[in-house]
Amino acid sequence: MAAKRKPLVAGNWKMNFDHLEATYFVQKLSWLLKDARFNYRRCEVALFPSFTSLRSVQVLVEADKIHIKYGAQAVSVTNQGAFTGDISADMIAHLGCSYVIIGHSERRKYHPEDDANIVDQVRAVLAAGMRPILCVGESFEERRQGIELDFAVGQVRDVTRDLNEDEAAKLIVAYEPVWAIGTGMVATPDSAQDAAHAIRADLEQTFNADVANSVRILYGGSVTSKNAAELIGEPDVDGFLVGGASLDANEFARICRIA
Ligand code: PGA
Repeated sequence: MAAKRKPLVAGNWKMNFDHLEATYFVQKLSWLLKDARFNYRRCEVALFPSFTSLRSVQVLVEADKIHIKYGAQAVSVTNQGAFTGDISADMIAHLGCSYVIIGHSERRKYHPEDDANIVDQVRAVLAAGMRPILCVGESFEERRQGIELDFAVGQVRDVTRDLNEDEAAKLIVAYEPVWAIGTGMVATPDSAQDAAHAIRADLEQTFNADVANSVRILYGGSVTSKNAAELIGEPDVDGFLVGGASLDANEFARICRIA
């Protein structure tokens, strides 16, 4: 059996924390994780502040040599020009970002982010040398119809059909059932594993076993320190995308230690 991938615990702050709160949080979290129960070599930690906080986080992380990584919550598909209010992948990369969250269900819902736009965001992020965290997952309605696996796999395929092997290997997928996001209803470990396994099996079919084994698949949706251990125990679950519980440094540190 291939070695399990290095886990990633990603904190999606959404539209919370100004730059002062963001830097305070990063200092507190790095202090909390500076103990014998946590090892950055065994688990990656990444935070996703607002655009307005990225520069402050970068300055702090670089000055204090903090091992926490960070990234943006979305990106423009064009790299420069007359696009008022947009932020390009190069601008984000120049702030030391490692990752960009793409296609989060809240972006799909409140912004015109369709499949074509999501593919373009993935390409922009890869071209700028960062890694995309592609969010997929069914709504309650698809789950009721029993088509949740096909739905999530289909959302991944909508992106991977435009990528080559090298590009696909750099993807991170976050399986986030929409009904579980911010609701306190968490997927069972079995159903998180089923979805992650279906996505991985499809990657193997589309590309090959190396690509399938290198792509990290995170679970997201009401993750807390109470349910994290069972979920990470599943063979195809490689970490978490954490929303609400990432706003509390103590709780987020607990989840990092569990992963
Ligand atoms: P939640 O959010 O942990 O608050 O459910 C997860 C997410 O939206 O990424």
